[in-house]
Amino acid sequence: MVHVLMDLPFDKSAMEPYISKETMEYHHGKHHAGYVKKLNTLIKNTTYEKMSLEEIIMTADGGIFNNAAQVYNHDFYFNGLRSSKSAPSTALATLIELDFSTMETLKKAFLEAASGLFGSGWTWLSINTQGNLEIETFSNAGNPLLSGHTPLLTCDVWEHAYYIDYRNARAEYLEKWWALINWDFVSENLAAYTNK
Ligand code: MN
Repeated sequence: MVHVLMDLPFDKSAMEPYISKETMEYHHGKHHAGYVKKLNTLIKNTTYEKMSLEEIIMTADGGIFNNAAQVYNHDFYFNGLRSSKSAPSTALATLIELDFSTMETLKKAFLEAASGLFGSGWTWLSINTQGNLEIETFSNAGNPLLSGHTPLLTCDVWEHAYYIDYRNARAEYLEKWWALINWDFVSENLAAYTNK
């Protein structure tokens, strides 16, 4: 299949002043688009051409894995943003209470994990194989699919996600990003896992 760059589910300036229109133009229009284009080039006339994005991620390595995972991760990241307030579903709130006791504890642990990642990568909130919430951090294009976990939320910790707006202040970007989480999206991902 030919992979297509997703449309942003919001206006490019919707996250201002926390994430600028300029960042969105580069992040979605150049970086995300670039991974889609490169993936399509790399899989042409290979067995990966017939696979879904998830199937490629689970079976490929090298450049094909990296570009496929970057497409998936960016789709997840942009779908996880929302400028208006949202809140976790009852089921998600219950799980957060069970595994982290409070939302503040989850936030602190998530942002510490993302701040502490050396270099480029992604921090995720996932459901692990025991059915518990888990915070996971991966370098480069890593994601929880390979370990059989179900991703609920991700934060892009590559410099291109924040350098225009925050320069080297990653912690400040993370704090602002937290306020932009689309909890409806996170809750839907949990519901899809629960109803599977
Ligand atoms: Mn990115």
